[in-house]
Amino acid sequence: MTAEAGSSATYNAGCHCGHITFSVTLSPPLPEQQVFNCNCSICRSAGYLIVYLEKDEVEWHNDSRPKCMNYQFNTKKKDQMFCPKCGVSIGIDFRRPKTEDPKGKKAYGISVRTFYGIDLDTLNYQKLDGLNQCADSSLDFVSFNSPDLDLDPDRGSPAVRHNDVIVDGA
Ligand SMILES: [Zn+2]
Repeated sequence: MTAEAGSSATYNAGCHCGHITFSVTLSPPLPEQQVFNCNCSICRSAGYLIVYLEKDEVEWHNDSRPKCMNYQFNTKKKDQMFCPKCGVSIGIDFRRPKTEDPKGKKAYGISVRTFYGIDLDTLNYQKLDGLNQCADSSLDFVSFNSPDLDLDPDRGSPAVRHNDVIVDGA
């Protein structure tokens, strides 16, 4: 299930029914990663427990990326990926190219709930107040504590952001 190589490890992952399969390579391995538990509308609804990954750290098997259904809301600039058969949430495709900046924002936020054979109770979680941090559109998201985080208006509460316009589905 897990192949260790130096300070990184590769994990097999996918949805419940097996329609969507992929593997992710994490440096350092998952037990040393911070896993983000955010209270924003989409993370709460989808049950995301997120790690951030570069494009080349996620290997989709059997054309699984195009097999995912994509849900978009608010700015509609990213895809919330889920399996069209079993409905399991996979994570977020930020639709960004790979960055050369080591502190740059990453391509994917993948929910560790999709990782096969791991014990969720053994991981290091960092709570993230995406709901309130993003409700204030004047917040400088870039300067928020971790460069990997994608704290943008999509993560806030749809009822309180953007001049109280309620957006679809969120
Ligand atoms: Zn499935």
